Amino acid sequence: MNIGRKDGPLVLVAGGGGFIGGHLASWLLAAGYRVRMVDRKPLAEWHQRLPGAEMFRADLSHPEACQRAVENVGRVYNLAADMGGMGFIETHKAECMLSVLINTNLLLAARQAQVSRYFFSSSACVYAADKQVAADVVALKEADAYPAMPEDGYGWEKLFSERMCAHFTEDFGLATRVARYHNVYGPHGTFVGGREKAPAAICRKVAEAISSGGTSIDIWGDGEQTRSFMYIDDCIEGTLLLTNSNITTPLNVGSSELVSINGLVDIVEEIAGTRLQRHYQLDAPKGVRGRNSDNAMIREVLGWEPSISLRRGLEVTYGWISDMVGVNTKTFSWPAATAQMA
Ligand code: NAD
Repeated sequence: MNIGRKDGPLVLVAGGGGFIGGHLASWLLAAGYRVRMVDRKPLAEWHQRLPGAEMFRADLSHPEACQRAVENVGRVYNLAADMGGMGFIETHKAECMLSVLINTNLLLAARQAQVSRYFFSSSACVYAADKQVAADVVALKEADAYPAMPEDGYGWEKLFSERMCAHFTEDFGLATRVARYHNVYGPHGTFVGGREKAPAAICRKVAEAISSGGTSIDIWGDGEQTRSFMYIDDCIEGTLLLTNSNITTPLNVGSSELVSINGLVDIVEEIAGTRLQRHYQLDAPKGVRGRNSDNAMIREVLGWEPSISLRRGLEVTYGWISDMVGVNTKTFSWPAATAQMA
């Protein structure tokens, strides 16, 4: 399929100013696609600004903005959402649920514009909480989302939007594809400000400790909670493979390499060549006790699964975050850092 290459229709990356959207747009441009990136944030705060792409600031929770965004577009990747790590989603449930307006209005606009394919970025947060109560969790397979008891706020919005995609396909013939991403990390991601997730937060805390001569770091919870973390390159490859496939039901796109938060800290310390005292903050947000991705279905239907090791991905990520922290350790602010990157 050649949607959007050279003279073909544009590919829309909604949420293009964000972490995954920036990487996806970058990959699409490199592969010769014509790309339009749209995001609500001011351009100065985008994770990647890409010469060669159309870049617009718009709030895609409004119908008119969505209609303009899909003009002359052949394919839509919807990565726009109000989201962050546990510290954000546990305390901003209404904001997370309001992302339903983005997917609703973008689906309607995509249907009207007769786009050929629509990708939606769902999340492992759709999985039922009672299946994630132990650190040595049984990996989550796609069917485990029902009976539904997802993460309150953020997870309910994702589950509802998944179903809306399914029904737009059934009722209106719009070809939708849905990935359930499990924690994604990598360079050009959020690592400061309250929305960062565990890998980026740990990399930053270790880098800051080194740069300021500190001897300890704070860890949310007791460090024994488990997760799997997918490196961004695997995320982009899985997204493109899924979107090009004929798989119309939600699919796990996540690593199956399970690690505890203590194990994650061990790896980052090893990469950084340091050892720090750990202060466990038992009342901090920590999410479910254990979560992993069962990749049987993605292996079966795509013949592929994420394969970049956590160690390898963290080497690149720690390198990038320690550079960013080194830019201006004491008075670091996110827009200043993005300006350095561009
Ligand atoms: P991100 O926060 O870096 O990017 C999301 C972008 O959407 C942001 O730049 C934000 O400004 C933009 N946005 C929010 N509301 C908008 C609006 N009304 N109009 C236009 N733009 C708007 O997050 P990310 O990590 O790149 O995640 C991308 C998608 O993948 C999201 O849907 C997220 O829920 C999903 N996801 C991510 C992860 C992960 O670990 N990063 C895991 C599971 C699911």
